[in-house]
Amino acid sequence: MKDFDYIIIGGGCAGLSLAYELEIHKKLENKTLAVIEPRLEYKKDKTWSFWKVTNHNFEDCVKKSWKEFSLNLPSKTKYLKCNNYPYQSIDSGLFYKKIVDKLKENKNISFFKNIDEVNQNNSVVFNSVPSMKTEQNNLWQHFCGIEIQTKENIFDNGIINLMDFDCEQRNSIHFFYTLPFERNRALVETTWLSKMNDNSLMDYDNQLSNYIKQNLKIKNYEIIYKEEGAIPLFYPLNVKEKNKINIGTAGGMTRLSTGYTFLNIQEHSKYIRMNIENIQNTKKFEIEKKYQFLDRVFLKVLEKYPEKMPDIFFKIFNGSTNSTIKFLSNKSNFFEDFSIILKMPKLVFIKALLGK
Ligand SMILES: Cc1cc2nc3c(=O)[nH]c(=O)nc-3n(C[C@H](O)[C@H](O)[C@H](O)COP(=O)(O)OP(=O)(O)OC[C@H]3O[C@@H](n4cnc5c(N)ncnc54)[C@H](O)[C@@H]3O)c2cc1C
Repeated sequence: MKDFDYIIIGGGCAGLSLAYELEIHKKLENKTLAVIEPRLEYKKDKTWSFWKVTNHNFEDCVKKSWKEFSLNLPSKTKYLKCNNYPYQSIDSGLFYKKIVDKLKENKNISFFKNIDEVNQNNSVVFNSVPSMKTEQNNLWQHFCGIEIQTKENIFDNGIINLMDFDCEQRNSIHFFYTLPFERNRALVETTWLSKMNDNSLMDYDNQLSNYIKQNLKIKNYEIIYKEEGAIPLFYPLNVKEKNKINIGTAGGMTRLSTGYTFLNIQEHSKYIRMNIENIQNTKKFEIEKKYQFLDRVFLKVLEKYPEKMPDIFFKIFNGSTNSTIKFLSNKSNFFEDFSIILKMPKLVFIKALLGK
C-alpha cells in the first residue's frame, strides 16, 4: 500500500473543493494526495445555491445569478433585492468537471475507490464522509427538485422564489423553491423540514406536479433533470481521531437553520490551505459559536411550533435585507444579529429556550 502526505476521503463538494484549493495554490507540488471516491462517474447531481457573501473559486460554474427574490405566504408576498449579495446557483456537473480535469494534470494526485487501497498511518487525513446512523429523531431538510422546460416563455428569470409556503404543511414545515434559469426553464423544489421517521412526506412527485399545475399554472412541461436529497440539521458524530480532520457536512459546515453549506465549505478549504503546513496543530475551523447557539434555539422553535414557522421566516426579512442575508450566511455583526433577534416572537423563543 502506498503512503501519501494527504488523503481526502470523499471526492464530493468538500473533498474536491479542498483538493482544488491546495492544487491552485501550489501546495501539491512537493506533496502527494490521494482522493478516495467510490462513485464510478461524475455527473450533475446537485445544484448548490447561496447568496454570494464571499468570493469563491467557481464563478465559471455559476449557472445563473439573481438580484431579486420573493417569499410567499398564502396571504401575502414579499419582494426583496439583493444587489450586494447576488443569489448564485452552481451546476455540480461543471464543478466536478473543472476540478477533476485540473487535478488530473498533477501526477502527485491519485484517485482511489476504496480507503483500503492506501496506508492512512503516515498521512494527514481529511474526511468528508459523515458518520450518520439513521437518526430518526433528528431534524432534516429533505427535498426533491425537478428542472422543467416549457414551450412558452412563462417564468420571470430575473427573480427567484426562495420560499413559497402556499402549500399543505401536514404538521411539518413545507415550502416550494423556484429558480428560473431561463424564461422557459426552472428548477422547482419541494422542501420539508421534518424528522425522517416516516415516508408520508415523500410523495415528492405528486407534490411537484400539483404545485406546478395549481400554483405555477403550467400544464405542459418536460422534466429535464431531477435531484433529491436530505441535509442533516444536526452535527454528525464523527469520532475525533488523531491525524483526521473532518470537512464538509461531516465537519459541521452546514448552517443548521438554513442547510446552506457550500460557501462554508469554500471558507474551510481556504483555511486549511493557509495552514496546511501545520494543520494538525491549528485551531479547528467551525461556524461561529453564536450562530450554533442561535440555530439551536431556532430549531427548537421549529420543532415545537411548526405552524408558526412560515410567519417567522417571513418576519426574518422584515428589516434590512442585507443584514438578514449576512445573518443567514454567518457574516453579520452584533448589531445586525440584535436587529434580527428583535423581529422574532419573543415569547415563543423564550419558551423554546427554557424547554417549555
Ligand atoms: C441534493 C442536494 C442539494 C443541496 N443544495 C445545496 C444548496 O443549494 N446550497 C448549499 O449551500 N448546500 C446545499 N446542499 C448541502 C451541501 O452543500 C451538500 O450536501 C454538499 O454536497 C456537501 O458536501 P460534502 O463534501 O460534505 O458531501 P458530498 O458532496 O456528499 O461528498 C461526500 C462524498 O463522499 C463519497 N463517499 C461516500 N461514502 C464514502 C466512503 N465510504 N469512502 C469514500 N468516499 C465516500 C460520496 O460518493 C461523495 O462524493 C445540498 C445537498 C444536497 C444533497
